[in-house]
Amino acid sequence: MAKKQFKAESKKLMDLMINSIYTNKDIFLRELISNASDAIDKLHYRSLTDKSIKVKKNDFEIFISIDKENRNLIIKDNGCGMTKEELENNLGTIAKSGSLAFKEEHDPKKNIDIIGQFGVGFYSAFMVSEKITVNSKAYGEKEAYSWVSSGIDGYEIKPCEKEEYGTEIILKIKENTEDVNYDDYLSDYQIQDLIKKYSNYITYPIKMEVEHRHLKEGTENEYETHKEIEVINDMIPLWKREKSKITEEEYNTFYSDKFFDYENPLKVIHTSAEGIVSFESLLYIPSHAPYDYYTKQYEKGLQLYSNGVLIMEKCEDLLPDYFSFVKGVVDSPDLSLNISREILQQDKNLKLIAKNIENKIKKELLTLMREDKEKYEKFWESFGTQIKFGIYDQFGMNKDKLVDLLWFATSKNKDYLSLEDYVTEMKEDQKSIYYACGETLDKIEMLPQVERVKEKGYQILYCTDSVDEFALKTLDSYKEKKFVNVSKEDLDLDSEEEKKNLEKLNEDHKDLFTFMKDELKEVEEVRFTNRLKTHPVCLATVGDISIEMEKVMNAMPVDQKVKAQKVLEINSSHKIAKKLEELYEKDKDALKDYTKILYAEARMIEGLPIENPTELASLICEKLSE
Ligand code: ADP
Repeated sequence: MAKKQFKAESKKLMDLMINSIYTNKDIFLRELISNASDAIDKLHYRSLTDKSIKVKKNDFEIFISIDKENRNLIIKDNGCGMTKEELENNLGTIAKSGSLAFKEEHDPKKNIDIIGQFGVGFYSAFMVSEKITVNSKAYGEKEAYSWVSSGIDGYEIKPCEKEEYGTEIILKIKENTEDVNYDDYLSDYQIQDLIKKYSNYITYPIKMEVEHRHLKEGTENEYETHKEIEVINDMIPLWKREKSKITEEEYNTFYSDKFFDYENPLKVIHTSAEGIVSFESLLYIPSHAPYDYYTKQYEKGLQLYSNGVLIMEKCEDLLPDYFSFVKGVVDSPDLSLNISREILQQDKNLKLIAKNIENKIKKELLTLMREDKEKYEKFWESFGTQIKFGIYDQFGMNKDKLVDLLWFATSKNKDYLSLEDYVTEMKEDQKSIYYACGETLDKIEMLPQVERVKEKGYQILYCTDSVDEFALKTLDSYKEKKFVNVSKEDLDLDSEEEKKNLEKLNEDHKDLFTFMKDELKEVEEVRFTNRLKTHPVCLATVGDISIEMEKVMNAMPVDQKVKAQKVLEINSSHKIAKKLEELYEKDKDALKDYTKILYAEARMIEGLPIENPTELASLICEKLSE
């Protein structure tokens, strides 16, 4: 029978596995055990809803044995097993696990590391095996099938003899090399150690035949051995264990194993609650966003258990969208197992749990913000956008819950600050919370409008995320202080006297500005401003739409284009002001050109496109040559 080829991406991954110089080859065992445990979960769960499936919880087990002579390590389970098609689909491709997609998005040089720590599942067994045989019989089927592969050049599937349902994986362990002592994987002790280290929390018994040596009765130095089948793991799921007795490593291993992350989590939240509804939860805040986090493919949710039995892989109702990055497990005895998705959604207990979890996550994030700025910054870089979107989403329904989590770089050293701290640090005479928008912190820093506010001694929130301003507009104010864009029409920074002077100045130059405005079709007004310190011009806006919002909304794939109502503002104490006055008296044609150039400058500073760059370039050149 001709060998079947692996799917292209499986082949690539396998190649990495086989040739991996990654030192932690040990992880293959936990991957296989965790697959076995999943398979038992599946069958167990099916048996709860389908009475024709007759299995007993106490019979479930994972059995590991070693055949030193033939160099075989065997992992056997009595889970759901696989049909011929399932063997083909599940082991012929790795498309599901997403690890390859991840790898390709990242630095290819880091492959080995990522692959080594990633939950690549079944294929990791190729790190230690020269040949893998998977004998499997799906529950309720008559036929059993055997999948055999020696690696990259393909696999075969053929019928085989197997009495019981479930799966048996036979690894033919590689011969020792100079660098690696593969014999370790044929040693009872080593394997027991690995089980304890990585798979202790698996809820089904992992059994091995263990050899005991003891003194022969009636002798003083003669030993005899006998073999006994023992359960190696504790079987208590991690979340049910006492917090103080769990090491950081155990928490982290559980996380990477279950949620396929190569990086340790930023924060572990392990809680239990008793009351109207009891539950344990073990939640993780990842230290980076998954590669598909900000796409439609990403699915939020927590694993849901009822008394240690997995009832749902991803229960989305347990997490609000704005905390969709949280990974973890919830276990409650107060949820019925025989429950459909639709009914579960309405379940009162589930809602209570979700509420409780949400509060807990928020509390932990706030603590992180206060106690570990560095970590919070990392969190914010990855998931801040999600939180800000949560404020803006659904017409601001959740804004009050999330506002305390906001975190902005500010004009003060570009350091991050919460709104609470901002308000505490506000100057006495400061009426509003100021913010400025732009592509990068440096670009914002250079905005002409920023200068004046800073000079007043007021801090400015720097908004570089396109959702920032939408969130701030949704909030409208914080602790009764309005959010004000530094580019907005009336900043109200001036004293009464300054205001009056400016008014008068504008009144006196009314004709000049009317003339200039007529040149600029899309500008509402041209005027002098106190907003600027050293810069000659800037754009301000009137109305609700700011320049940044115009940019964001016009980048969206909708037909309707929006425009901010723009005001061209000129610094009255800049040399250019005099020049404009002169031109208005003597050379109106030149004034038209100057107006165009100044407006283009103002647009450029805001990062807005110039409509006719060629015309502008000639204009500038002309002026330069004068
Ligand atoms: P993952 O576990 O991430 O899905 P794997 O490569 O480890 O990826 O496994 C692929 C699939 O093969 C699993 O999703 C499961 O459907 C199936 N599988 C693996 N091991 C077993 C097993 N012991 N019993 C039944 N099915 C299994």
